Amino acid sequence: MSEEIKQFETEAIRTQLERSEFLEHSVPLYLTSSFLFEDAEDMRASFSEEKERNIYSRFTNPNTSEFVEKICKMEGAEAGYAFATGMAAVFSTFAALLDSGDHIVSSRSVFGSTHTLFTKYLPKWNITTSYFKVDEVDTIESLITPQTKILYAESPTNPAVDIIDLQLLGDIAKKHNLILIIDNCFATPYLQQPITFGADLVIHSATKLIDGQGRVLGGVTVGRADLMREIYLFSRNTGPALSPFNAWVLSKSLETLSVRVDKHCENAIKVAEFLEAHPNVNWVKYPFLKSHPQYKVAKKQMKLGGNIVAFEVNGGIEAGRKFLNAIKMCSLSANLGDTRSIVTHPASTTHSKLSEEDRLQVSIADGLVRISVGLEHVDDIIQDLKQALN
Ligand SMILES: *Cc1c(COP(=O)(O)O)cnc(C)c1O
Repeated sequence: MSEEIKQFETEAIRTQLERSEFLEHSVPLYLTSSFLFEDAEDMRASFSEEKERNIYSRFTNPNTSEFVEKICKMEGAEAGYAFATGMAAVFSTFAALLDSGDHIVSSRSVFGSTHTLFTKYLPKWNITTSYFKVDEVDTIESLITPQTKILYAESPTNPAVDIIDLQLLGDIAKKHNLILIIDNCFATPYLQQPITFGADLVIHSATKLIDGQGRVLGGVTVGRADLMREIYLFSRNTGPALSPFNAWVLSKSLETLSVRVDKHCENAIKVAEFLEAHPNVNWVKYPFLKSHPQYKVAKKQMKLGGNIVAFEVNGGIEAGRKFLNAIKMCSLSANLGDTRSIVTHPASTTHSKLSEEDRLQVSIADGLVRISVGLEHVDDIIQDLKQALN
């Protein structure tokens, strides 16, 4: 090839394993738990890592390696490792990098299971976390102690789609010598590349927009090679690896990520504009609506606004429940980023165990509804929401 291929869409399609002797066009699936050695010397050299090659699919497999390589190119990362789920990626990343006594500074608005990891499990190993609110980023530096090792955030956040300034986090991490980790699940590498703002590691739940069709679970962490080496060694010994089949599905999905996400975003902003004009809606939050409190930051760091729209129905928790029951086409489901639009009401479901006060701490009003806008015709999505609101 005369010139290096650089564009995102091209990398997503043309980053591919070498062909086998059959010269297949589509990438084959390598359903094998282990790989052969030529002889004792080959086996010794492979285990001592003098040779870079596949040994056992808990370590590496051609399909998982292809998936990881694509994500690395899309995120501008040096190295990566693929996990069975997004939470396996989150847990393994923290477990590999932290020691007893270490401290994390994190945004308070993080994915529910990540919050449980911080509050219930990491303290078992004497690892503690301090939180900043998304609208109080000026307090971050006051939370940093000599024990702080990691600065952690998601942007946009789940479910309230708040935006955190990634450049600001990058600058703080650099100044205080912290490892900045960003969960980039809601944006995907197509809309936002945290490494360009100073992130050291980027985590994805591939289950969401990366698969995009609600079929398989998966996760991935990519970033600095020295940190990924620790994460790889931890994972190869503890076993959270992605299956080759799921890696094959996810790698295929990446080929259409840009066109799918473009369409998701085109539909989502129309849904957000419709809701903003509706009298039974208190407020709407979507990163690319001018009314979003962090609109300018969103415009600076994201290519488009994503596919999640948050809004509050008039009338609190009961109105939220009623609205959900009146929905006809959209799915009531726990996933997001699917081709099918999905509607959830966090206050009566995922966050029902929290007190109202605690819910407000993470920006979950009682009437808050979250829509993961899908790829159905936008007129049909709006029609469904309209009849349910009326
Ligand atoms: C879903 C999700 C996760 C967890 O991913 P799983 O694949 O469900 O384990 C982590 N972070 C965010 C932001 C998510 O939306």
